[in-house]
Amino acid sequence: KASWLSRLTRGLSRTGQSIGGLFVGAKVDDALYEELETALIMADAGMEATEKLLGALRVKVRKEKITDAAQVKTALRDLIAEHLAPLERAFPLDRPAPQVVMIAGVNGAGKTTSIGKLAHAFQANNKKVLLAAGDTFRAAAREQLVIWGERNNVAVIAQDGGDPAAVAFDAVNAGRARGMDIVMVDTAGRLPTQLHLMEELKKIRRVVGKADAQAPHEVLLVVDGNTGQNALAQIRAFDAAINLTGLVVTKLDGTAKGGVLAAVAAGSQGVRPVPVYWIGVGEGMDDLQPFVAKEFAAALVG
Ligand code: GDP
Repeated sequence: KASWLSRLTRGLSRTGQSIGGLFVGAKVDDALYEELETALIMADAGMEATEKLLGALRVKVRKEKITDAAQVKTALRDLIAEHLAPLERAFPLDRPAPQVVMIAGVNGAGKTTSIGKLAHAFQANNKKVLLAAGDTFRAAAREQLVIWGERNNVAVIAQDGGDPAAVAFDAVNAGRARGMDIVMVDTAGRLPTQLHLMEELKKIRRVVGKADAQAPHEVLLVVDGNTGQNALAQIRAFDAAINLTGLVVTKLDGTAKGGVLAAVAAGSQGVRPVPVYWIGVGEGMDDLQPFVAKEFAAALVG
């Protein structure tokens, strides 16, 4: 645990100076607040969250007569944790089987990697997992998933060409017939510039619902934490099309822009504060961790 937290901390402080570093030997004055403002904006926290957090910090510092910079740091960390807490939600594993999880995201976001990590984590929880390769057009994407499945003894429903919605439909039925606990439906990644190509996703969602009236139980968006504020546009677009139930935010081990979660929590740029189930903090199989607001706030403040 210590290792991925320190990776997250390092990633989030990539601007060269961690937010925590600003407090070292600092006086509690306007200059400090200004530096904090810059640091939060640089971390892609956005204006709304930055103003809300620093406003609350000033009030707290005044009320509690805090004069020590280290205590201001603790206060900021706690305020960020409080601000992020509404995004924290444990993924429910106890639904009647098969639970259907649809997964979307733009190319390169880390969708395939995250599906692999998730399948691994579900299996570790004694869940039987089936995957559906919803990308019927890109053979490479499909093969990557199939190879991953073979290595980990997870069956993959795939089809060369044809309708992704039909593959998803078959997978849900196969999941039920084979007594699976979780059916993960991968969908074709689109380019970040093709966010308008959402009809296919809507259709998959609709057709999955015909195989099982409760499905999809979860609709996840995998989003690259590196994209910072662009993540907001992605969340907004996918949410409008397929009504997201949760996020997987990847690559937080290598980015200084992880503050974007504060922008999500603040509903910046018209985004709905969609819960964050997991964060990606590396390329290894275990580098997908449940999102815990307190841990994240501590890593962000450094
Ligand atoms: P897809 O196109 O969305 O399926 O993206 P991939 O799953 O192929 O991932 C793209 C690249 O990002 C790969 O090189 C992954 O190893 C890498 N990646 C995915 N998640 C993470 C993460 O949490 N941290 C790091 N450092 N790399 C990641």
